[in-house]
Amino acid sequence: MFILQVYKLLDDKRFQESITRASNNARHGVSKALKENPWLEELAARIKEVGDQVISNLEHYIDKTITSLQRAGAGAHLARDSREALRIFDDLTPDVDLVVMSKSMAAEEIGLREHLEKRGVEVWETDLGQFLVQLENGKPMHTIAPAIHITRAKARRLLSRLGRDPGSEEPEKLAHAAREFLRGKILSAKTGVTGGNAIAADTGSLVLVENEGNIRLVSGVVEHHIAIVPVDKILPDLRTALDMVLVQSAYAGIFPPTYINVITGPSSTADIEHKRVLGAQGPRRLDVILLDNGRLRASKHPVLKAQLRCVRCGRCQFECPVWEKLANHWGGPVYGGPMGLNWTSIVHDPDLASELSFYCLLCGRCSQVCPVSIPLDDIIRWHRTRVWKEGHSGEN
Ligand code: SF4
Repeated sequence: MFILQVYKLLDDKRFQESITRASNNARHGVSKALKENPWLEELAARIKEVGDQVISNLEHYIDKTITSLQRAGAGAHLARDSREALRIFDDLTPDVDLVVMSKSMAAEEIGLREHLEKRGVEVWETDLGQFLVQLENGKPMHTIAPAIHITRAKARRLLSRLGRDPGSEEPEKLAHAAREFLRGKILSAKTGVTGGNAIAADTGSLVLVENEGNIRLVSGVVEHHIAIVPVDKILPDLRTALDMVLVQSAYAGIFPPTYINVITGPSSTADIEHKRVLGAQGPRRLDVILLDNGRLRASKHPVLKAQLRCVRCGRCQFECPVWEKLANHWGGPVYGGPMGLNWTSIVHDPDLASELSFYCLLCGRCSQVCPVSIPLDDIIRWHRTRVWKEGHSGEN
């Protein structure tokens, strides 16, 4: 019963303190970024407009992205659902024994880590927060900051399980212990998995934004890079894809980001007789799995299609009074908060989204702060009325 979990979370003082602290810090980070860089709000408005254009013609942009990826020397695969994405992944990696991953909600969505572990593959998350979530066998509590619920004391306990006590609870020591462990794994792995913050239909370029530097390692030192990218991350051109990741990082409260990676095909060289060959110092192979999983269907839905504009900044979560009490425990199996509830409806289970929508206060603060003006509370209201009108979840 979800309600029992709610009471348990409300009683958990440490959990409440962690989420409140993270929300306050994030809100401050966003205000500062927008105050110092007012042009970001104009950029966000442009991303909204372009996003709508892509959503209204999503099949066309998927085809164009596939063509561009192939032209760049990458493998391009369209997965209709999670099962197909996992099958494609298995076909691409029949003999793999160690995989390193960067934080990817798309990988969470298809259950990739659990799937690989069942296959007997050793898998490590390399984003520090996601690594801690893996060690506690938990769920990411925020799109951008998955471990906001984990205190430094708990982080030390989790890292000690690897047989290496960080020596103190100082964040620097904890980060160093994780780095030492994960660097060894990254340098031993032949396959690296990332998501994609954006992908450009005109060039097939993946754009990945980060602070830790793990994404450039996971996508750069391995032989085979596999990226799992939801189709709503497609933008018409590279310029707009870069703009989009700037908007995402600003509204996530981490502007400017430390790194923006642009990856167009596998590594290559033309240094011998000016003939381009694939496989220089970076990966010899790049495969991109474009994940549909309900998104194409949603792009034709009068209410749900607006959610496909989402840049996954998590700003709505930090503004939501319910999320501030329950974090991603509320919203669905993978995504959480106001945006998570709507994503749950698109990629998992509309009935579950309708059920969870009754925990929403309908205050509308999420919609007010969304950089791409998604009417989140209107969509959540629709989830409720859908139950009333139909008497059951019924037709989506
Ligand atoms: S719904 Fe809006 S505020 Fe929430 S994560 Fe998506 S883009 Fe950000």
